[in-house]
Amino acid sequence: MLKARKSRKPVIVTDDLYFQSTEGINTIQYPYEMQPVPDTGRYRLHNEIDDCIVCDKCAKICPVNCITIEPIKAVEEIGKTSDGTSKRIYAAKFDIDMGKCCFCGLCTTVCPTECLTMTKVYDFSVFDIREHNYVFAEMTEAEIAEKKRLYEEHQKNKAAAKPVVASEPIAATEENKEAAGEAPKAARPVFRPKIKPAGPPPSNG
Ligand code: SF4
Ligand code: SF4
Repeated sequence: MLKARKSRKPVIVTDDLYFQSTEGINTIQYPYEMQPVPDTGRYRLHNEIDDCIVCDKCAKICPVNCITIEPIKAVEEIGKTSDGTSKRIYAAKFDIDMGKCCFCGLCTTVCPTECLTMTKVYDFSVFDIREHNYVFAEMTEAEIAEKKRLYEEHQKNKAAAKPVVASEPIAATEENKEAAGEAPKAARPVFRPKIKPAGPPPSNG
């Protein structure tokens, strides 16, 4: 690539040396050959969904809203990620629309389990832009419906198990306080300012 900075000397195509002169040429036989990309490069995103705890941090920080997550709370721990973090939420949907992504990398920096990474895949050209929406969730419709039902049932059972509390608080009037055995408040003197009658107007002499 550095050699490409020097331009090739003009050589006539009929010259015998035309095909030997490769200095300064930067064309490669793409896609059979590819330029190496740096390890820290920011290209296509990948979510290792088994390690995702569906915390939503990546979606919240994304400046262009290209991550769409639909979480379903589980009624108990559903497993652990490879770094030992507890998983308690299912991902009914985890889509990343790379057509909108500006490759800032913020989502990967906030991911607590480091399951969201930018890969070295830079060629993902498609004919239909909708194919740039990458789907990472693996749940079927039936599984989603079942997990939702289980969570709703769990919430209902929890609400039913709660003790009933007094519905209406008693008004704190003096009579009610007396009835409840509390000493009534001592009467407070009422101050009313007196208005003096207007005197004769002051004389100027
Ligand atoms: S790299 Fe930036 S724009 Fe792309 S999904 Fe992550 S936060 Fe959003
Ligand atoms: S930040 Fe990481 S763990 Fe949290 S939802 Fe996004 S990909 Fe999953």
